[in-house]
Amino acid sequence: MSDTIERIKCLIIGSGPAGYTAAIYAARADLKPVMYTGMQMGGQLTTTTEVDNYPGYPNGTDGTAMMEDFKNQAERFGTEVRFGLATKVDLSKEVGGIHKVTIDETTIIEAETLIISTGATAKYLGLESEQRLIGGGVSACATCDGFFYKGQDVVVIGAGDTAAEEATYLANICRKVTLLVRKDYMRASKAMQHRVEKTSNIEVKFNTELDEVIGNNVVEGVRAINNITKEKEVIDVTGVFIAIGHKPNTEIFKGVLDMDETGYLITEGKSTKTNFPGVFASGDVQDKEYRQAVTAAGTGCMAALDSERYLGALK
Ligand code: NDP
Repeated sequence: MSDTIERIKCLIIGSGPAGYTAAIYAARADLKPVMYTGMQMGGQLTTTTEVDNYPGYPNGTDGTAMMEDFKNQAERFGTEVRFGLATKVDLSKEVGGIHKVTIDETTIIEAETLIISTGATAKYLGLESEQRLIGGGVSACATCDGFFYKGQDVVVIGAGDTAAEEATYLANICRKVTLLVRKDYMRASKAMQHRVEKTSNIEVKFNTELDEVIGNNVVEGVRAINNITKEKEVIDVTGVFIAIGHKPNTEIFKGVLDMDETGYLITEGKSTKTNFPGVFASGDVQDKEYRQAVTAAGTGCMAALDSERYLGALK
């Protein structure tokens, strides 16, 4: 049962770089955007330590502080930022139709345009030691955290394109990268596998899984297990990169919006348009390839411009 209904021009769900950038542009275009942040205010960047690759921060910045800057900028132009989770949608297929989004199962927002920036969540293995040491040497993003392991030894877990890409990226920075692959082959594309094979400081261990991350407050090593011989070995590393894929946060859009086989929203051509008029998608929720803060921010800007043009054309 809903207890509030509110009609607005532009609703943004998700508060990562895509959502806040969409908010900045939408507010400046006088769309009076309302943003619902989701449970993790600030998104994935608030789980990393330092951000060194976002332009405009020559000395790097802290992920949480950076998202606070994004929020302040969005609010400066009048975005109303609210804490809450979109739990249900009822989208209109009509051009100029109203999209209804339920927040926290109680509030219904009726919006002329909807910008979806709900992001993606990195998958973890679920080991107790892995969870405990996230931020203490366990990471799911080599481009975010790899630099901190310069000249050190690290392991990467996974066997897809992400794992191959992260391993080769880390090999440029680290002394040695050990890639743990649970099967006797890699799922990554042949081209990516060749890159891994050609990189002399990457060692691939097949049929090998992570058994435990060793260390109390920081990573001191890992215990790996060969899943055929059941033999265990300790590998001395300071960093553990989990690269077993991401899950786009698109549960509530299943059966409604077009998505690919892994759940990423499909957008039209170079635009942020979904298959529903007035509904736009930006950031990692529609991008499994680049997944950077700066690319997410770029598509957030596009989503706001697409919303503005869509509303303009209705007049
Ligand atoms: P994928 O789902 O393709 O691969 C995940 C990998 O993680 C698999 O090899 C899987 O192993 C392994 N894995 C899953 N669970 C575990 C576990 N519990 N223990 C050990 N290993 C595990 O995810 P990616 O993120 O690699 O790629 C997602 C999509 O994005 C793909 O379509 C990919 O092609 C694309 N991509 C493209 C890039 C590019 O073009 N530059 C870069 C990165 C991603 P198993 O094989 O045994 O199932």
